[in-house]
This record gives sequence, structure tokens and C-alpha cells, in this order.
Amino acid sequence: MSYRGRFAPSPTGPLHMGSLVSALASWLDARAHGGTWIVRIEDVDGPRTVPGAAEDILATLARFGMHADEPPVWQSGRESAYAEAFERLVAAGFVYPCACTRREIADSLVSAHARHATLAYPGTCRNGLHGRAPRAWRLRVPDGEAARVDFTDRWQGAQSQDLATEVGDFVLRRSDGQWAYQLAVVVDDADARITHVVRGADLLDSTARQIYLQRCLGVSTPAYLHVPVVTNQDGEKLSKQTGATALDLDRPVATLAAAARHLGIEAGEIRGEMRGEMRSEPREEPRSLDAFYAAATAEWAKRFVP
Ligand code: GLU
Repeated sequence: MSYRGRFAPSPTGPLHMGSLVSALASWLDARAHGGTWIVRIEDVDGPRTVPGAAEDILATLARFGMHADEPPVWQSGRESAYAEAFERLVAAGFVYPCACTRREIADSLVSAHARHATLAYPGTCRNGLHGRAPRAWRLRVPDGEAARVDFTDRWQGAQSQDLATEVGDFVLRRSDGQWAYQLAVVVDDADARITHVVRGADLLDSTARQIYLQRCLGVSTPAYLHVPVVTNQDGEKLSKQTGATALDLDRPVATLAAAARHLGIEAGEIRGEMRGEMRSEPREEPRSLDAFYAAATAEWAKRFVP
């Protein structure tokens, strides 16, 4: 099996330090394995997509010397693949229509919380809509022991989630007709034959759902590695909304070195390398992109390539 990894940004704005860290981690993992690295533009969520953001992200990756081995994949061009997978799940009886509004679900979760019960979708429409109009489509998750999904994350270690009590039947097709991220990502990773998923830990909680969906579709499960998310001073995940600042594209090595440091890798500047020479003062020589990647990949390989 040859290694295939990916970086899958949502084009909701320019790359920031948080998304650069994810990009760098997936790039280093692919290089450390001598594998293939692709970029997927996750514009499945039409309303959240910002015009021009995808092109901006691709240009920024190029500026940082991260060149994909294949042309980028755009989710907006893959509607028929999602529809086909969805139809297969419907035919297999895994999917049912749901008439609940956001408001109804929120209310039921509040009352569940008050009873210290589960926060999962309560399965209101599992046994029919009782004359109400369908809105979204949900994947039925199993009950009991079969609901538990265990996996080992290469960074975060052993993980376990009970889909029935912690998540509940989850949406594959939204009430606005859009395909849900969970379905798109599983179909895309399978079609691209992705063997290793490396991304931010904010998606750790989605992974059990994706593994379950892979089982329903009969596709293989990649290895997962979730890197710690970058937060701002208030501990919020970095995003445009939480005040992420623009990346310094004029000093790509220094910017990448900052991202690497977040991954626990020191591979930025060569400190005082010139000291041995007849210089009056030691000085810092910035590394080239190639030298940076060589050093960072070697560090990554020590930790993550057995
Ligand atoms: N598009 C998602 C994001 O930007 C990442 C999805 C993934 O890596 O699976 O947060």
C-alpha cells in the first residue's frame, strides 16, 4: 500500500497559523513516508465558501513550497459521487428522513441536559415522520455495544466514542439540500485512496462517525493523526472570527518555523552557524525552504515513522 495523504482546507478565508500547522503536518508526514500529497478544496458547504479564498490558499501553499503531487480536487465538482454513495446507503436501509427543525432538536437537547441524559440526537424520526415533511437525511447508528468505535490516533493515542449516546443518528444530507461534511470527506478520502489523514484535533470528535460511515460504505479506514489546534490568548481555536492575523509571506521560512514549533519541531533558523568563521559577530542565517523541509521532515520521521 503506498502512502497517500491530503490537506483539505475549507475556503472560508485565507490560510492562518492554525491551518498552516495542519498543512505542514500533513506535508511532513507525506514526505517522511516518501508518499503522495494532495490538496482538496472543501467547498461542499456552498454558503460558507468565500469567493477567491481557494485560489488564495493554493497560492499561499505554493509560496511556502508545498506543491501537491496531483491537481487539486474540488468538492463542488463531486456532487455525483456523494449522491451515488448516499443512494447506496439509502438502498441498504442505513438512512432515514428527518423532519426535526434545529429548534426542536435544541429544545430536546436542553431538556435532555437537564435530566443529565445524553446530548445525542434523540432519534425522534427513526420510526417515521408521522405526516411531517422531510427536511434532512440521517444515518442510523447502532445501539448497544455495536455503537462503540475505537481507534488509535497516531498523535492523540487510544480513542473511543459511543455513537449512540455521544452523537446519535447524524445528518448526511442537510435540510438545505447540501451534502454534509461527514459524507463528503469519507467519499473523497476513499475515492482518492487516502491512506493517512493528518489534520487538526478539532476534527478528532468527527473521526468515529467517519470510521462508521466507511464501514457502512465498505471502504477502508485510513490511519489518523490529529495535531493540537492553535488557539488565541483566550484559548479559542484560531480562525478569522477569533482574530487570526495574516501569515507573513515575505519570510516564509520564519513563518514555517513558527508552525513547526507548534508541532514540537525546531527546524527554523541556523543559529550562529557562521560562528566558526572569522566573523566579528555570530549572525543568524535563515535557511532555505529546502533546508527547512529537510530538517523538519527528519524530525517528524523520528517521531512518527516507525
Ligand atoms: N475542511 C476541514 C477544515 O478545514 C478539514 C477536513 C479534514 O481534514 O478532514 O477544517
